[in-house]
Amino acid sequence: MTHTKSILPSYDFSLTLNESYRKKIFPFFAEHRIAANPINYALLYDYVAEQNPELNKAIDSLLAESKTLESKKSEELYASFICNASLESFEDINQKIHRVLTRASNAIDETFNKAEQTGESFEQKSALLENTSEVANHQAIFQDIIRETRALAVTTQAMQSELTKANTEMEQLRAELVTVRKVATTDGLTGLLNRHAFDEIMSDIVRGNEKPPVCLAMLDIDHFKQVNDTWGHTIGDNVIRYVAALIKKHVSEYHHVARYGGEEMIIVMPGTSKNAALAIAENIRSDMEKSRLKRKSDDHLLGKITISIGIAELQQNDTAENFVNRADEALYKAKDSGRNKVVG
Ligand code: GH3
Ligand code: MG
Ligand code: MG
Repeated sequence: MTHTKSILPSYDFSLTLNESYRKKIFPFFAEHRIAANPINYALLYDYVAEQNPELNKAIDSLLAESKTLESKKSEELYASFICNASLESFEDINQKIHRVLTRASNAIDETFNKAEQTGESFEQKSALLENTSEVANHQAIFQDIIRETRALAVTTQAMQSELTKANTEMEQLRAELVTVRKVATTDGLTGLLNRHAFDEIMSDIVRGNEKPPVCLAMLDIDHFKQVNDTWGHTIGDNVIRYVAALIKKHVSEYHHVARYGGEEMIIVMPGTSKNAALAIAENIRSDMEKSRLKRKSDDHLLGKITISIGIAELQQNDTAENFVNRADEALYKAKDSGRNKVVG
């Protein structure tokens, strides 16, 4: 089952997070005299979110050079960093497919026309053969037939090799599409599914395309602001990556793990009962509690970092929103009752 229907960039919609970004972005516009248009907003959003070091480097060096972001440069950055090139890759593959199909279809047309001409010519020759008794004429007619048959064989062979080539190229394009699809559905920081991929899975699920029971586990790192404040955003990012990898260790191949927002992750568990989902979540929670994370540079322990998890089971006539909300409410209860808990 594929979940790629969108190649839009995905964003965290949490109000508090966006408020903190907004507070940084607007002064930045003013300070660097940058036009406050949606392209520049998207660039600066990623810049202050520090999700993409390459983008930050590119913006820093442009600002050092020209003190502002020219519209042409902004568009280039947007195309390569925000629209994540998937759009271009799709367009490129689309054009390649078109070229391969046009070549194959021309080869088929050519063979068809040649076969038609040859057929007509054979009919004329057969009429000639019936109406002439001269052996010399018969010989000339047969030689013509042999020549035309050979010419038709050459065209057919050319078509065959064009179709074989088209087949090989289509296989390569199929592989390219798999790669592009992976990029379009993957979260850059964690390698988990991104929000769009999650949304697609959820719409499949509420349409009844997965085997019930289906459970959702919504996970949120406890007091993560403190982690960022104490250790910095880069270590914060590494903690998010660590939690993502830890979740992956505990789920089955039928489960889908997505980054839902900043430090929130979600597991979609088709064919998993509530009790089984609670047990998996408890294993993840306790494994995290036991983890002793260290700062890479000096092995300094980061202290205990825990997660809270809310579980919900799919009900009949659920919308994706209802289903996610129930997991979110359970998560809220886990937070409210002291954090480092699983509630279902
Ligand atoms: P709580 O226990 O209630 O969850 O407290 P919290 O501090 O974790 O609160 P909340 O979930 O609201 O805060 C999430 C913080 O995560 C805010 C934001 O700065 C940070 N954050 C969001 N996305 C990222 C990210 O990609 N990387 C890093 N390092 N921090 C992020
Ligand atoms: Mg959160
Ligand atoms: Mg949190």
